[in-house]
Amino acid sequence: MPDATPYGRRTQRASPVPDIHILWLTAGLGCDGDTISITAATQPSLEDVVLGAIPGLPKVHLHNPVLAVDSGELYLKPFYAAKEGKLDPFVLVLEGSVPNEKIHHPDGYWAAMGTDSKTGQPIKTTTWIDWLAPKALAAVAIGTCATYGGIHAMAGNPTGAMGLADYLGWDWKSKAGLPIVNVPGCPVQPDNFMETLLYLLYQVAGLAPMIPLDAQLRPTWLFGKTVHEGCDRAGYYEQGDFAHDYNSPKCIVKLGCWGPVVNCNVPKRGWMAGIGGCPNVGGICIGCTMPGFPDKVMPFMDEPPGAKISSTAISVYGRTIRSLRSLTNATVNKEPKWRHPRAELTTGHRSHQA
Ligand code: SF4
Ligand code: SF4
Repeated sequence: MPDATPYGRRTQRASPVPDIHILWLTAGLGCDGDTISITAATQPSLEDVVLGAIPGLPKVHLHNPVLAVDSGELYLKPFYAAKEGKLDPFVLVLEGSVPNEKIHHPDGYWAAMGTDSKTGQPIKTTTWIDWLAPKALAAVAIGTCATYGGIHAMAGNPTGAMGLADYLGWDWKSKAGLPIVNVPGCPVQPDNFMETLLYLLYQVAGLAPMIPLDAQLRPTWLFGKTVHEGCDRAGYYEQGDFAHDYNSPKCIVKLGCWGPVVNCNVPKRGWMAGIGGCPNVGGICIGCTMPGFPDKVMPFMDEPPGAKISSTAISVYGRTIRSLRSLTNATVNKEPKWRHPRAELTTGHRSHQA
């Protein structure tokens, strides 16, 4: 048996699970920022998954136009093979939002990849989704554009842009019975995506149960908590201590942070190898992982309406609690008086020294 296939090298280790291809469409409306983001992943890294460094995983072949060596028709070969049912199994990844091709000018199109050899016309991104989604083992939307529409889908846009679930249907299931998996973020946090992909590959290998998703089809273990719950500045918020300019380590809710109502683990996880994480390093949370982004969190630099009420209420409590805590802080900053070098023991009983 040859050790290479038209799409990559064959694994040498015996595995009951066939090789899996990842067909990654970046031809939605987007900026390729999610592809760039995942090159920074470390838990696991893209290289670890593709080079087979993780035990138990099937051999993975990645087809992503930004990271590919091949180009043109050679690059498109596995996509055509999958369309014809000759490349199986595969996971479909969509990056970028789905334009509404029912509303463009009759002579035009919004987004495409490759050219139809018979007609000479571009093959629309929606056509690729129509061809590939029914044959995919799983469909994953990466980044906020592909998940919920993102920037391209904001009010007044001309393309009617939407997320993958808006296009295929929120109750869509793959041929393996998996719902669409959404990993939002603008761009996606690299380890969030790679960890989700790893989970799906383990599921396909029979080593993990059905992936747990919330109502917005996000992995629950990644998006179950708010930014605020993991923020380094949350202690300041709780004491009603707010920054009024960006040169401050205090809570930046008054500068426009939406962290208390946004589902995202970035402050806990950091951006790259645990470093960074929007509000931790001074950037207001603009809710980029949310289905309502961007319209429902604009204008970005204004204090969120709900925060005006909560921060005003907490300011009163915070002032009192801060002064009480400063008294207690002064007390616990002093050693007990029985620690001395004199020739006498003055410790007494603990209950008498309190
Ligand atoms: S900076 Fe934002 S996320 Fe952090 S404590 Fe303040 S409001 Fe919460
Ligand atoms: S903390 Fe806010 S702005 Fe930063 S990635 Fe998460 S949702 Fe987006």
